[in-house]
Amino acid sequence: MASDCLFCKIAAGEIPAKKVYEDANLLAFHDIDPKAPTHVLLIPRRHISSLAAVCGEDAGILAELLCTAPTIAAQLGLANGFRTVINTGPDGGQTVGHLHLHILGGRSMHWPPG
Ligand code: 5GP
Ligand code: ZN
Repeated sequence: MASDCLFCKIAAGEIPAKKVYEDANLLAFHDIDPKAPTHVLLIPRRHISSLAAVCGEDAGILAELLCTAPTIAAQLGLANGFRTVINTGPDGGQTVGHLHLHILGGRSMHWPPG
């Protein structure tokens, strides 16, 4: 755990979040500032700073994140589809330095993203 990391604190239960899924390695919870009717963040419990750091460290967690997203989307009733996003670094729009997969749904998504 990184002691100064918001999502590590959520994973440790030190900061409350509306959880929608958890298993041994992953946790999903509702985004505090949703950008769609359904907006969930799926994170590894272990601190990994970003997509740019994960491949050398633990690429297997990426498969777990991506392969769990459809299960969570189905659980949340997103039968018509959903958007998955990983923002990386300042230009990518990453604001929390703990790897997270956005799962957005409940409306038709725009393309290209802003
Ligand atoms: P990023 O901008 O790094 O891709 O995504 C970070 C996300 O975390 C944002 O969508 C933001 O709304 C969400 N977020 C920031 N602080 C909190 C918090 O304390 N709790 C929850 N549930 N989400 C948060
Ligand atoms: Zn962390």
